[in-house]
Amino acid sequence: MSARDATTEIPVFSQRLDEVLGMMIKGDAPNAGRFCANCYTPLGKKAEVCPHCATQTSERAPLAKVPPEVIAMYRRMRTRESLVVNSFAFAGLFLGVLVFMGLVAVAVYRMDGSWVMLSFATVVLLVGGRIFAGVLGGWIGDDIGYNFAHKKLALEWVEFEHTRDDSPPPEAAHAQPAPATSPQ
Ligand SMILES: [Zn+2]
Repeated sequence: MSARDATTEIPVFSQRLDEVLGMMIKGDAPNAGRFCANCYTPLGKKAEVCPHCATQTSERAPLAKVPPEVIAMYRRMRTRESLVVNSFAFAGLFLGVLVFMGLVAVAVYRMDGSWVMLSFATVVLLVGGRIFAGVLGGWIGDDIGYNFAHKKLALEWVEFEHTRDDSPPPEAAHAQPAPATSPQ
């Protein structure tokens, strides 16, 4: 990993791009329009400067499509995010099971198998598990997942930017088929 701090200087996905990519991967929006050629934020028809990264359209001509690599980066970010959220939600369910087992133990060993306590334990298992899952997943997991996924995205972005800006544009690279000079 490079020593460069990836998280500070990145024009990582603007909110507008985030929304548009979210719609694109659901199939609710086509991958077509006018996008900043640096950060891929959607630009208005006549915009000459990107509102997110301030790149001028005269420096880098806007694109009609978001490159597939960028959409793939977005998908990976979303996947990571939901992985963390789901893990926390699962931990919440597990916590519900632990509390259930604790209450059952109390009912059996301390309360002579009290039906009231056993019923309460069951309610805790059914309702509490969901509440714990909701709290852990939706509240703590959501925050951690967001940060984790966005840090990874920032790192991927740096790499992507390097590759993009150091290599010739794809049209030039694919303009001529590679000459078949060396048969195998
Ligand atoms: Zn931009």
